[in-house]
Amino acid sequence: MTAFDLEKLLSGNRRALAKAITLVESKLPAHREQAQDILEQVLPHSGNSMRVGITGVPGVGKSTFIEAFGLYLIEQGKRVAVLAVDPSSPIAGGSILGDKTRMEHLSRAEGAYIRPSPSEGALGGVAQKTRETMLLCEAAGYDVILVETVGVGQSEYQVAGMVDFFMVLMLPGGGDELQGIKKGIMELADALVINKADGDSERLAMLTRQQYTSAMNLLRHTSFWTPRVMTCSALKNLHIDAVWGMLVDYYLQAQDNGWFTEKRAKQNRDWMHQLVQEMLLLKLRGNPEVRRMLPELEQGVASAQITAYAAAKQIIDAL
Ligand code: GDP
Repeated sequence: MTAFDLEKLLSGNRRALAKAITLVESKLPAHREQAQDILEQVLPHSGNSMRVGITGVPGVGKSTFIEAFGLYLIEQGKRVAVLAVDPSSPIAGGSILGDKTRMEHLSRAEGAYIRPSPSEGALGGVAQKTRETMLLCEAAGYDVILVETVGVGQSEYQVAGMVDFFMVLMLPGGGDELQGIKKGIMELADALVINKADGDSERLAMLTRQQYTSAMNLLRHTSFWTPRVMTCSALKNLHIDAVWGMLVDYYLQAQDNGWFTEKRAKQNRDWMHQLVQEMLLLKLRGNPEVRRMLPELEQGVASAQITAYAAAKQIIDAL
């Protein structure tokens, strides 16, 4: 990216941002290189946003919530970027998550930028690209980054590892089954937000809130923050402001006690280690000597002529 384009990106120009994201998402090595160059340049301008993960089973109201929440934030003078991590996304832009047609009003708002999930990439996969896109959005001046994912697979762990605050949307009722959401996800949650607390469901939502508050208290939490359980209605715009109030509260405390800085530093270190592993694997697969040895070693291991350990060691030593 030329210096001129970089200036454009930093001034919040959408086209410059979209162009940079396209490079980040590209599979072409030349584009990847260009993208890394841009990322290095934007790094000093990144990091100044609230990074919030939002998950929940399909139908819980993620897109309705993000639309209501995003519009509320824009009213508060914020600029909001919505990114998505959907590892199951079959083709680029073919994802349901982060789909603009689902967030019709928000996508038309001046202060919002919505980007659907990238398709699976070679290095680091979808989450890696979303991390990089997040940095670009921050450099372009977005104050709040909402990262959406579906609460059914592995992507929640990846998203929880790249955000400051992780929110799980729930449905009223459900109780013990945790509504198809695994217990591990509950342990990641900084807040459970029970959506659809309106009309006939309002009472049930209050009851569910009590149940989850007790359930959450049984879990062991590793930070200063005691996860909160709230109710809201994304459709009727109820208690959306309370969700924002909770986030502000979290940030004030986390910045004050150093947790915020520590958490981001840890995430960056983890990210580096993850990349080292992936790069090593790529290097290994591309190594001519390793490729030459591999078929024979595989056969040797399969027919028990050599131990898996000895074969693995030969491969590593060849690198
Ligand atoms: P997602 O799959 O998690 O993104 O869920 P959607 O946002 O697409 O919502 C699924 C359905 O639930 C839609 O028909 C929404 O209109 C409805 N819905 C979402 N939020 C609420 C809410 O707060 N109250 C009620 N009653 N319905 C809602």
